[in-house]
Amino acid sequence: MKTLLCVEDERDLLQNNRRFFEKSGYTVLSAENLAQAREHLATNSPDAIILDIMLPDGLGLDLLKELREKGHDTPVLLLTAWGRPQNIAAGLRAGANDYLTKPFDYDVLLARVEAMLRGAEQIPEKVAKGSLTLNVIAGQTLLKGADMLLTQKEFAMLLLFSQNEGRTISAEYLYEKVWGQPLPDDSQAVKSTASRLRKKLAESGYTIRAERGEGYIFESE
Ligand code: CA
Repeated sequence: MKTLLCVEDERDLLQNNRRFFEKSGYTVLSAENLAQAREHLATNSPDAIILDIMLPDGLGLDLLKELREKGHDTPVLLLTAWGRPQNIAAGLRAGANDYLTKPFDYDVLLARVEAMLRGAEQIPEKVAKGSLTLNVIAGQTLLKGADMLLTQKEFAMLLLFSQNEGRTISAEYLYEKVWGQPLPDDSQAVKSTASRLRKKLAESGYTIRAERGEGYIFESE
């Protein structure tokens, strides 16, 4: 199930959005201001964000810029009040994927969110992270130009990590994404693959930190 983060300070609208998306089969996190949105983002990785611009503690655009500066490519749809074209332009330049002006039609909102999520599933051909280059098509990772000779699982795990730098990823999620099935109860596969990968990353400037009971974080050293 996909998770959406809705950031909106008009309570009725926020509630309507939540009900609508839940009815459409999404898990919805809601935030009435930037502080609440940041709290959600510290512990969750929503699949897309629906972001109001004018919020009581700042501009949605500030949050968007923060995300992009940290390298997060979570799709963001901006909701903006009618008559503020400058916000739209600034928003798209700051890395928003789409926008909609209020008042909006729910069917259009849903279609736009679906389109963003489809776009997000397209995997890039190459991912560059500092001294690392992941060639997604060849399944090859170069560290300062030299092939790291990763196994298929190590590569899949590193790709997932590199797209979620700085975020905690649970062992369950890692297993599902890398092995393509639910995590078996007694599996050490995530732990051992992550630790082999950590050793191979020693010279890369990045590491994989295990958080007891929480998951794993890929971060620069
Ligand atoms: Ca607002």
